[in-house]
Amino acid sequence: MSRPRSIAVVGGGLTGLTATHRLGEFVTARNLPIDVTLFEAGPRLGGLIGTQHIDGHVVETGADSFITNKPWAVDLCKRLGLEDQLIRTNREYQRSFILHEGRPVQTPEGFELLVPRKLRALLASPFLTAQGKLDAANEAFVPPNMDDTDESLADFTRRRFGQEMLERIVQPMVGGIYTADPEQLSMRATLPRFVDMEREYGSLLRAVWQERGSSLTDGDFGESDPPSGISGARYGLFASLKDGMSTLLDALEQRVRLSAHVETDTSIQSVIPLPSCGYELTTSGGDSRSVDGVILALPAYQAGQLIREWDGTLADRLLQILYASSAIVVTAHRLSDVRHPLDAFGLVIPHVEHRRILAVSFLSRKFEGRSPEGTVQLRTFVGGAMQPEQLDQDDESLMGMVLEELQDIFGVEGEPLFRCVTRYDRAMPQYHVGHLDLVADIEQREAGHVGFALAGNAYRGVGMPDSIHSGEQAAQRVLTQLMATDGSSSP
Ligand SMILES: Cc1cc2nc3c(=O)[nH]c(=O)nc-3n(C[C@H](O)[C@H](O)[C@H](O)COP(=O)(O)OP(=O)(O)OC[C@H]3O[C@@H](n4cnc5c(N)ncnc54)[C@H](O)[C@@H]3O)c2cc1C
Repeated sequence: MSRPRSIAVVGGGLTGLTATHRLGEFVTARNLPIDVTLFEAGPRLGGLIGTQHIDGHVVETGADSFITNKPWAVDLCKRLGLEDQLIRTNREYQRSFILHEGRPVQTPEGFELLVPRKLRALLASPFLTAQGKLDAANEAFVPPNMDDTDESLADFTRRRFGQEMLERIVQPMVGGIYTADPEQLSMRATLPRFVDMEREYGSLLRAVWQERGSSLTDGDFGESDPPSGISGARYGLFASLKDGMSTLLDALEQRVRLSAHVETDTSIQSVIPLPSCGYELTTSGGDSRSVDGVILALPAYQAGQLIREWDGTLADRLLQILYASSAIVVTAHRLSDVRHPLDAFGLVIPHVEHRRILAVSFLSRKFEGRSPEGTVQLRTFVGGAMQPEQLDQDDESLMGMVLEELQDIFGVEGEPLFRCVTRYDRAMPQYHVGHLDLVADIEQREAGHVGFALAGNAYRGVGMPDSIHSGEQAAQRVLTQLMATDGSSSP
């Protein structure tokens, strides 16, 4: 490069840390004269993700695991030297429950998000009435929808498998992942694989019958098809880190500090293009910084606020991506205080059950070493797009409400060994019908601004691997553009 350059990354969550780390990798490998600064509004890096160690329990305050069939999180762990820290889910408890008429019932064996890989197990389960079972089995004969318009998860499921399967199984299983309303959730943005299966095979059931033996869900740890007896989400595909997710964030932060400046407690208030090229950033303290490139690794509505002065259209598009709020209540209990054996990874709750909680993850069943022997750690999810009113109560009543529900559903008695509430205000992007068109529009406008990139889980995937991928791609894009304006070859 002919002259020194500077790049700002705004937002020190997983996405911003990953983008900064990737820039550091390029800068170091090619000895580029590029100065990178990471700005984070809060006092710590990591954003939504964090781990606390409480009385021998490893407590995740945010994400507790990541999927491995999207390779980016595992790849990053390997590059950070954390491969030996990766742990996989505990095979002993690889099953899940769905609440049915007030009681936890095992998810039909082989049920995968939307499709019963073992129809017989679904038909033998109590979730559907005789009519519901008939509707589900009839899926093999429902003609495929070959048009290209997006559809909601609810419409797709109803059309193919019937209302009961939507209400009783699919809504809690899929809705739970996105804390979303299935009537709004976009099939193409969240479950494109099933849309493709319908087009290719004419039916999801026929697709799994024909593909039996091969896998629909290749895993990174060589666990593709769930072993028999396993039910629920594709649990064999999930991984975590031995001492918790903070291991990844801490390692990232350490690396980032070697190659970039990190400014915490610095909120960026606006980003405005400079007349010639580059951008001016204004901090909440009133300082301004000029940089050649900028990556906004923020929730879409925050990114929109920063740019509304100079690209109102892009800002409006970003603000169209809506977010849901939720809370996770973590409690630990003596196993002897719980009537139910909790011999699974967790429970999801259909909206039609009219409970006040969305789901419960049994973290210490999912991963070894999360809680001391004889105890269990529960993560109860509250709120989301379907029950936002539950978040209006203060922490104390939220906790009381969760303990009542846990007692009623699992027979959890007595005082928990510890309890903590974490709230996630407007933290989960909602991929509504038409999301992919909206994102394509956003990306087109973004591409018109040289040295500018948006990154995060608002666009093409909500999980940790998606955030990592998005941050890394943004780093590459901005660097490539800056080098192109300089006549250098791409990194
Ligand atoms: C309740 C919940 C549970 C989840 N569980 C899982 C899971 O189990 N597995 C999984 O794979 N994914 C999970 N996810 C998703 C995962 O947590 C996200 O994909 C990921 O953490 C997003 O990281 P991010 O950096 O994009 O955003 P964030 O973590 O939100 O980081 C954004 C950062 O930007 C900072 N910031 C905001 N405005 C400014 C500004 N103006 N100037 C400077 N800094 C600013 C914020 O302080 C924050 O630190 C979960 C999400 C939620 C909400």
